[in-house]
Amino acid sequence: MMGERSKTIIVIGGGAIGVCSAYYLHQKGYRVILLEKDTIAAGSSFGNAGFITPSHFIPLPSPGIIKKGLRWMLNPESPFYIKPRADRDLLSWLWKFRGYATSEHLHKTMRYLRDINLASRELYRKIAMETELDFGLQTLGLLMLYTTEVGAKECHEMATLAREIDEPAELLEPQQIRKLDPGLENRAAGGLYFPNDAHLNPAAFVTGLAEYLQKRGVEVYTGTPVTDFVIENHTVVGVKTPEKDYRCDEVILANGAWAPLLSKKLGIHLPIQPAKGYSVTIPQPTNPQKIPLILTEAKVAITPLGDSIRFGGTLELSGIDSQINPRRVNAILKAVPRYIGQFDQLQVDPMTAWSGMRPCTPDGLPIISRTSKISNLIIAAGHAMIGISLAPFTGELVARIVSGEASPSEIAPLRLERFA
Ligand SMILES: Cc1cc2nc3c(=O)[nH]c(=O)nc-3n(C[C@H](O)[C@H](O)[C@H](O)COP(=O)(O)OP(=O)(O)OC[C@H]3O[C@@H](n4cnc5c(N)ncnc54)[C@H](O)[C@@H]3O)c2cc1C
Repeated sequence: MMGERSKTIIVIGGGAIGVCSAYYLHQKGYRVILLEKDTIAAGSSFGNAGFITPSHFIPLPSPGIIKKGLRWMLNPESPFYIKPRADRDLLSWLWKFRGYATSEHLHKTMRYLRDINLASRELYRKIAMETELDFGLQTLGLLMLYTTEVGAKECHEMATLAREIDEPAELLEPQQIRKLDPGLENRAAGGLYFPNDAHLNPAAFVTGLAEYLQKRGVEVYTGTPVTDFVIENHTVVGVKTPEKDYRCDEVILANGAWAPLLSKKLGIHLPIQPAKGYSVTIPQPTNPQKIPLILTEAKVAITPLGDSIRFGGTLELSGIDSQINPRRVNAILKAVPRYIGQFDQLQVDPMTAWSGMRPCTPDGLPIISRTSKISNLIIAAGHAMIGISLAPFTGELVARIVSGEASPSEIAPLRLERFA
């Protein structure tokens, strides 16, 4: 009989989730083939904010979000938009999302979300040591700035929730903000600081790790879209690409926002909606700020990335669509000087912005799970706004699901069947 570790595992998707899955599968001694339709980090893993976020313990469907979302829908410069369309999958997703936007779901989820983000941050440190790759990993925390009473209320409520799960969070006055980051020309009325958060350069991480793996025998094929599967007895025995079929013993579906399109070929419905966001990256000014920021009311993320600084935001439920909406990109850029002084003259052509699609589930947790329909398929998708943060956690868990070492209790919150 074939030894377990001589199994061939195909990973579909060369984003943070696919590459981290390949990393831990390779560590376990499996033969790993990674298939990417485009280039490594071509999807959402490229130009995102790169935050590693124990602070993001509030799931996307949170109490009050529906009301807020409806208000935002009326404003073409708001950070949220749903492209109106008669799409059954979207309607069913929204219905489920509405059901999860409760205080009960929040309290059930927040400690777990914090814990898996923290666990992932530790795995990032290990990966950096094991691989000696430099991807700009720094633990400098995350500072939320607010300018209005509404923003202050949001930060105070978050601080209260953070206390409930023993997550360090400090409300700061302007003079304390100045002390925390002397490079920051703060204009905000106050802030909330999460010291446990970290950040990195996401593209450097994903491409660096893929190259590292390739040098060590992982077979990485870019420009290789998986178009279908070869099935025998409820088992995937191969995947089809335009060039050739690849045989395999197990398949990891890690293709982010595109996962539902491919899972349909297997008769599996994944409740994942693409949620588009934008970012703009420019050179840092001479006296650079160091600490990553969230502009609370505007929902804009700001990430110092060495010589550059990145501004990102917006969540548009508009299907698979990478088109740039210049008005919303401009809204991101216009928000910045309301909070900080260095960027009064941001002269950026909005059409040069990057766009990416977050793969969002209705409950704000990813799907990391085998399926009942196909015995050797593992879904690793649906990470929404925390896919960079959770990538090592996900990859490590995927490898243990394959090897049979993952316990049912640790997989339970992430199973696909929770949506049945
Ligand atoms: C503006 C913005 C800011 C964000 N900020 C953060 C942040 O600060 N922290 C954080 O944790 N997350 C953040 N995110 C979310 C994060 O980017 C995603 O959760 C994460 O990148 C998802 O990774 P993934 O590997 O699942 O998907 P992707 O990175 O999208 O990778 C999927 C890959 O699969 C490939 N693919 C698709 N179909 C096929 C096929 N048929 N065959 C082969 N390959 C295929 C695609 O080309 C793509 O490369 C942000 C997102 C946005 C848009």
